Amino acid sequence: MINIQQFKQLQKNSHQSYQQQKALIKKILAGKTVFCEVCKQPLQLRLPEQYEQSGIFCHNGCTEIQLELEGC
Ligand SMILES: [Zn+2]
Repeated sequence: MINIQQFKQLQKNSHQSYQQQKALIKKILAGKTVFCEVCKQPLQLRLPEQYEQSGIFCHNGCTEIQLELEGC
């Protein structure tokens, strides 16, 4: 059975992380260096023209944010 409270909390968390990801993507697109929260290494931006899988990636693989290009 799904606990509705847990489900709501989950939704809230994922919404928060979505907002965080958006803020992070903005920073990187603005040319700022952003560090991985896990290993503190600089995150790498991969653009669709250069990489098959575009997004923001950590060298060690702990951060993987795929870019959603929605005309922003
Ligand atoms: Zn990392």
